[in-house]
Amino acid sequence: MAIQWFPGHMHSTRKAIGERIKDIDVVIELLDARLPGSSRNPLLAELTGHKPSVKVLNKQDVADPARTPLWLDWYNAQEGIRAIGLDASEPAPARRLIDACHALAPQRGGMAKPMRVLICGIPNVGKSTLINTLSKKSQAKTGDEAGITKLEQRITLADDFYLWDTPGMLWPRITIPQSGYKLAASGAVGKNAYDEEEVALELLAYLKQPYAPLLEARYKLGLSPAAIDALREEELLEAIARKRGAVMSGGRVNLQKAAELVMTDLRSAVLGRITLETPAEFEAWCTESEAL
Ligand code: GDP
Repeated sequence: MAIQWFPGHMHSTRKAIGERIKDIDVVIELLDARLPGSSRNPLLAELTGHKPSVKVLNKQDVADPARTPLWLDWYNAQEGIRAIGLDASEPAPARRLIDACHALAPQRGGMAKPMRVLICGIPNVGKSTLINTLSKKSQAKTGDEAGITKLEQRITLADDFYLWDTPGMLWPRITIPQSGYKLAASGAVGKNAYDEEEVALELLAYLKQPYAPLLEARYKLGLSPAAIDALREEELLEAIARKRGAVMSGGRVNLQKAAELVMTDLRSAVLGRITLETPAEFEAWCTESEAL
């Protein structure tokens, strides 16, 4: 079963973004660097049309350092897009963001033509964290903008640079089954929308080949990478359950508990720096799902 996720409130968000977008020069979309394809929202492209876009691969500190450059190249090869990687530990991300926006809209700048930027991203991608960092760095004024929604904020990053927070929530739109599993594993989807054991099994089915050494380092299974890859994901989850003491009375393994453990380890990066998709894999999933 693929992940089913139909959150409400999209209608008002769609309307509010539609109203705001005409006065926007550049759209910043925050993506999770651990799933840079699946964490984008295709609805945003529909709503923002031809506006230039900066894709921020956030949380790059916990993403696979070998894969992030592949994704940056993939996005940078697209017309009207600039991609940069960021992480919460970076003390001053503002300069790189501002530079990327100016590169996309060089006609804007100066008090008469301030740069107007909208920042968007699905829940849990790190938008509040980034906005707080930006606000502190620039002693930004934040406040409600009348007229659109009560929650919309305008942050002044410089006298000629305004950043608007997205009004409402931009939920992930899951049209690709593999993206659904990865979004659920990363924590971007509500907990009641999926079965943890099923998501953990999909996760292990993916991890066991490229990330077998990380699984061994964390769970001390006593297996070579080839042996881990050769296991079925059910066997792998069971082995992890036994190693981590997720065993019920009578010696039966508690797969639900093991599933929770694996996902907590992924989300907290205790498992290591992992990226759950490459551009080539993501493109193949898109093609498959279009063919369905
Ligand atoms: P929002 O829902 O998009 O506003 O996400 P938050 O800003 O609340 O962040 C969600 C979680 O991700 C929080 O636990 C943050 O501490 C964490 N987070 C945000 N940015 C980063 C980052 O760059 N690296 C890491 N490792 N964690 C981050």
